[in-house]
Amino acid sequence: MSARVRTAVKQRVCILTDLVDSFEAYFAEHSGCAALAAAIVEAEQRDAAWAVAWMVCGGCGVRWERHLKLHA
Ligand SMILES: [Zn+2]
Repeated sequence: MSARVRTAVKQRVCILTDLVDSFEAYFAEHSGCAALAAAIVEAEQRDAAWAVAWMVCGGCGVRWERHLKLHA
């Protein structure tokens, strides 16, 4: 693996870790709710790669979403 690729992978892991950490804080608040839907996905938007975490709690009427740009 080249140094450039290794740096890119490290950045990606940092971004995803950041996303998962903030996601878990919100998820924990609603882990006991019945109507909870959540996912972390990667998406191509506006010619860039994004990591997207989202959570919807139907019971509480809460919707949370966070996009972080992945440096390709
Ligand atoms: Zn809830």
